[in-house]
Amino acid sequence: MVVANWKMNLVRSDALLLVKEVLSNKADNISVDVIFSPSYPYIYKVAKLCQINNNFSVSSQDCSVSKEGAYTGEVSAEMIASCGAKYVILGHSERRTKFNESNDELKQKINRALENNLKVIFCCGESLQQRLGKFHFDWVKEQINESIFHLSKNKVENIILAYEPIWAIGTGKTASTEEAQEMHHFIRKLFEKRYDNDVAENLSILYGGSCNPNNASQLFSQNDIDGGLIGGASLSSDKFLTIINSF
Ligand code: PEP
Repeated sequence: MVVANWKMNLVRSDALLLVKEVLSNKADNISVDVIFSPSYPYIYKVAKLCQINNNFSVSSQDCSVSKEGAYTGEVSAEMIASCGAKYVILGHSERRTKFNESNDELKQKINRALENNLKVIFCCGESLQQRLGKFHFDWVKEQINESIFHLSKNKVENIILAYEPIWAIGTGKTASTEEAQEMHHFIRKLFEKRYDNDVAENLSILYGGSCNPNNASQLFSQNDIDGGLIGGASLSSDKFLTIINSF
């Protein structure tokens, strides 16, 4: 699975062109799920474009913690689903740090998403300080424990994990394949302990953090790395296509 996280980039015409370029360069029978994550105003149109190929779908970059009502500016999970999205990214480090999202708020958002049949791409990851202090495993464990582990085995099948070390996001500094694989393995083991071996084996764990055409195939070749959450490199169809072809 490869997810394009466009963040707050691309005006409508550029966004639609990028999707068309990627779609027209990919065969129908690719074995990779490709997910575009545009800003809210383009979700409906991008979802429509993706209907021509089963491997392509759409995610939002967030959703409201509230179901509906007097929350000016908010967008609910139900609205997102009604526009054709199948996924929602939750817990991106930019939302955690710039919008103060806590593990508990994310737990509520996950509930909203699942109630509306959206699959969740849940981001977790540590700061450089936490890694240097060797708290990174405990930190990621806490993020997952407090936001996800309330879910039943049935529900947790709708969760995709994205390990995104904060120090690697948009910095050009990628985690080494060993560092990424080590954390992905740790995460899979957490799911095995909390649920069972089947849940752990079926869990998709994506890597995010300066993943690019040069390092994608090495990262994706690791046992516990099932794909990528791509920021900067997903804004260019050439780079993004190379990443899609890196499995
Ligand atoms: C991201 O924002 O999720 C991300 C991984 O960004 P980048 O690829 O630019 O580091």
